[in-house]
Amino acid sequence: MTLMEDAKKGIITPQIKAVAEAEGIDAERVRSCVAKGWITIPHNIEGNSRLIAVGKYMSTKVNANIGTSRDYVDIEEEVKKAKASETFGADTLMDLSTGGNLSMIRQRIMDAVDIPIGTVPIYQAAATQKAVVDMSSDDMFNSVRKHAEDGVDFVTVHCGVNQNALEHLVTSDRIMNVVSRGGSFSIAWMLHNDQENPFYAEYDYLLEIAREYDMTVSLGDGMRPGCIHDASDRPKFMEFITLGELVKRARAVDVQTFVEGPGHVPIDEVELSVKGMKQLCDGAPLYLLGPLVTDIAPGYDHITGAIGGTLAGMYGADFLCMTTPSEHLALPSVDDIKEGAIVTKIAAHAADLVKDGQRERARAWDIEMAHARSDLDWEAQYRLAINGERARCIRESRVTGSDACSMCGDLCAMKIVRDALSGGGELDSKSDS
Ligand code: SF4
Repeated sequence: MTLMEDAKKGIITPQIKAVAEAEGIDAERVRSCVAKGWITIPHNIEGNSRLIAVGKYMSTKVNANIGTSRDYVDIEEEVKKAKASETFGADTLMDLSTGGNLSMIRQRIMDAVDIPIGTVPIYQAAATQKAVVDMSSDDMFNSVRKHAEDGVDFVTVHCGVNQNALEHLVTSDRIMNVVSRGGSFSIAWMLHNDQENPFYAEYDYLLEIAREYDMTVSLGDGMRPGCIHDASDRPKFMEFITLGELVKRARAVDVQTFVEGPGHVPIDEVELSVKGMKQLCDGAPLYLLGPLVTDIAPGYDHITGAIGGTLAGMYGADFLCMTTPSEHLALPSVDDIKEGAIVTKIAAHAADLVKDGQRERARAWDIEMAHARSDLDWEAQYRLAINGERARCIRESRVTGSDACSMCGDLCAMKIVRDALSGGGELDSKSDS
């Protein structure tokens, strides 16, 4: 029995109970959303990762992407990145390795952290052949099964990249065509072999494997726009119509899903994008990369992604895949991963401040910080800060002896008004320049 099957039968399983408690939401409400496919709890029966829930009423989750490339393989560094992701707030981790011994790297990463693990099995299928187009459909499905057996909690599979989507891509006026790596593998394979994408053509078989291990299927967006010009075009929405149908088929056999989304989207299209994708996929948890709201900031794309992620979260996105300062430039370093995780966590929290089910809990944190600021209670501020270590480091690098901070010193607005309200303190007129 899968978790969704239990939920449909009205059973509040220990997993549902645990996430309901962690999120401060009534367990029956969580059960009902799991049954409908609006909340997903990625948890392979062969794995032992921490339980987290993504979707309606749940806090906005953050995923970190790590992994080797064919050009750069340093397993110890990937393990450090995995640990940094978890330490600095990632709720899940995707191993996107394409270089080195992929099974061994995945195992090392899974052993290093407690959070759910996601992968893209087609990367390993492609690694079995010299050229991507030489994979067989058996290689693809065997790779999915191998990842399921190894305890991977969710797999990204680009099932929506079918001949129909390809046709719309070819006739579109896109600048960047396809920027999804998995999507590009599928397209190259389909064109070279003149066949339908096996993950679309034999989707029922994919679901059979996922069901056996209660593994979540993350429906990848192979047509993800790679620049704001391409953001809301036909290839993208054609793919989403297909993904909506695939979500329905997965739910019919009690397999949980996420739906992945863009990419690069200008801010005035974020609402349309999120609401459209949610509508087409009947409320399935939406997992976004960014979205990056401009194309001109390489080196700062953790920020362009956080701006889009905050907006997207406000309009209903459930799961934000972090971007790092290295996005579009290089394989991220451990420091990049740390920075990306923290910045994306800020975006997720900002979205939670206005999200149904999380608003009150999220605001309680901000209110506590406001009191600590007002009281000039620095230790409380460090404890409450998303990165207390950094906050302490900045303040202590410029200490002046004042109980305020070196920004205003004796002219601290909070001190002045507090003293004034209590009938004490006068502002030295000489200081008022
Ligand atoms: S000194 Fe200025 S910046 Fe520092 S706490 Fe007071 S008002 Fe805020």
